[in-house]
Amino acid sequence: MNLAAAADRRDSAIAYISVATDDWSTMSEEQPASKSDEQWRQELDPNAYAILREAATEPPFSGEYVDLKDDGMYHCRGCGASLFSSQAKFDSGTGWPSFTDPVVAEAVALKPDSSHGMVRTEVVCSACGGHLGHVFDDGPGASGQRWCINSAALDFSAGESDPASG
Ligand SMILES: [Zn+2]
Repeated sequence: MNLAAAADRRDSAIAYISVATDDWSTMSEEQPASKSDEQWRQELDPNAYAILREAATEPPFSGEYVDLKDDGMYHCRGCGASLFSSQAKFDSGTGWPSFTDPVVAEAVALKPDSSHGMVRTEVVCSACGGHLGHVFDDGPGASGQRWCINSAALDFSAGESDPASG
């Protein structure tokens, strides 16, 4: 990479970070629940393990929750934490479950991700550190955010909508 390209890349990264979120200062304060890699392998199916623990991405339109419109709560498949309400789900056309907001801001943590030649914001579960997906700033709701989450990182619980009860 030449210097001009490097500088351009850095500038775009800074611009992106400035609009992505203001929660970054809090993201590293809590230690995720610690489990050994072996424990995660035993608890999760191979697909969920690859996504939650190795930050893989499921193929678009392959996940079980892409088109689900039922009322309920989407939990972390790794630890069961409440992450996204069906009320925040919308059809993004991307092939992944998409939400305008997490159920509470503290449920998720954000990390800069420059893998695959892109500057993105990775979304992880605050409680267990599991990779969930990415958040983008082109959402349709008041937040302006589009939380693009892998179905296999989620566990849907029908009929549950109030985060305080779960
Ligand atoms: Zn979790």
